[in-house]
Amino acid sequence: MNPSRGPRIAIVGAGLGGLTCARVLQQHGRSVAVFEREASADARPQGGTLDLHADTGQAALRAAGLLDRFHALSRPEGEEWRVLDFTDAAVLAQQGPSATGGRPEIDRGQLRGLLLDSITEGTVSWDRAVSGVVPLPDGTCRMLLDDGTAEDFDLVVGADGAWSRVRPALSHAAPRYTGVTFVETGFDHCDTRHPDLARLVGNGSMLAKGAGRSLVAQRNSNGHIRAYIAFRAPEDWHLAAGIDLGDRSAVRTHLLAMFDGWDESLRDLLRNSDSGFINRSLFVLPTPHTWAHVPGVTLLGDAAHLMPPAGQGANLAMLDGADLAHALVTEPSVDDALRAYESIMLPRSIEAATGSAQGLDRLVPAATS
Ligand SMILES: Cc1cc2nc3c(=O)[nH]c(=O)nc-3n(C[C@H](O)[C@H](O)[C@H](O)COP(=O)(O)OP(=O)(O)OC[C@H]3O[C@@H](n4cnc5c(N)ncnc54)[C@H](O)[C@@H]3O)c2cc1C
Repeated sequence: MNPSRGPRIAIVGAGLGGLTCARVLQQHGRSVAVFEREASADARPQGGTLDLHADTGQAALRAAGLLDRFHALSRPEGEEWRVLDFTDAAVLAQQGPSATGGRPEIDRGQLRGLLLDSITEGTVSWDRAVSGVVPLPDGTCRMLLDDGTAEDFDLVVGADGAWSRVRPALSHAAPRYTGVTFVETGFDHCDTRHPDLARLVGNGSMLAKGAGRSLVAQRNSNGHIRAYIAFRAPEDWHLAAGIDLGDRSAVRTHLLAMFDGWDESLRDLLRNSDSGFINRSLFVLPTPHTWAHVPGVTLLGDAAHLMPPAGQGANLAMLDGADLAHALVTEPSVDDALRAYESIMLPRSIEAATGSAQGLDRLVPAATS
């Protein structure tokens, strides 16, 4: 413990949850170090659009003093959504932006950039993958790095996502496959290059679903549309089908066959994309996922409560980060802070994970239902 800057805190993972935590700690004058395995902020594209909810993601940004900057970047019109009949693309249901009560969309890359820009330069150590942590008898924690070095901290926060290397210090739980896969693809300059698709999707999101499969398309910033081809299948569906995932044409042919009988304007989502196909098998942690308190180490975000993508994961990761930081600056000790944080985070994540599992069942209904 350094009396002037408070406890030595390490956050593993510079994702949305870890960065929110770091930002709120620094706002209160606390010292924090973030360890990230990727080589730089631009090492990989950050993915699609997120809607931030008032009581979770936006509340976290308010705590981080970043809500105004978020509103300047976000797309309120992106809240629009519609459900189409898969047989003829007729609109079955739709909602305008105002109906959802304030959930503006933002590209994940923009949101991460906002958070990264808000923290002190040098806070994130890039290219420093953590291999594990060892809680020590004195209540502190040793962090082990892939490069063979080790560093001791008063607190290590596992914000390192689905396949967390910090989690084993607290829990034996491992992610399991949900039975649902998303194959992601994308369209550039949609208003000029893909005007029919742009009309189909509108300003926000479009969903069409049949038994065991769905198509979701979402407008991102800069005229980009990201689409998810969702289906129930074994995790190794491509091996069983003899398909190399890098073979764009083979994946396309297989998916077109899978969506046989769907309206041709919807099948164009499979036919005309500009990017390749990224296979995203969906994994979840068991529900409930909880652990007995261990001094000197905790988890936030997907590391704590990986759940199906039903619009909650990033929002909750950010709220976890803000809540943990708040507890660390208000409670008398690190241990009191962890107990306070875990007592609110664990029950709320169990509730959200249960709701998200039901959401996935509605998004991709089982073939027999
Ligand atoms: C297809 C899809 C769509 C989604 N859509 C939404 C949505 O619309 N709304 C929503 O709220 N949520 C959505 N989610 C969920 C959301 O993406 C996650 O819940 C969220 O990113 C979790 O944030 P996090 O900070 O906990 O972890 P992550 O964003 O996974 O960040 C973890 C960080 O830790 C780093 N890391 C990992 N291992 C190590 C290591 N060993 N050492 C050092 N660093 C490490 C990673 O590189 C990464 O930077 C979606 C998920 C998917 C798959």
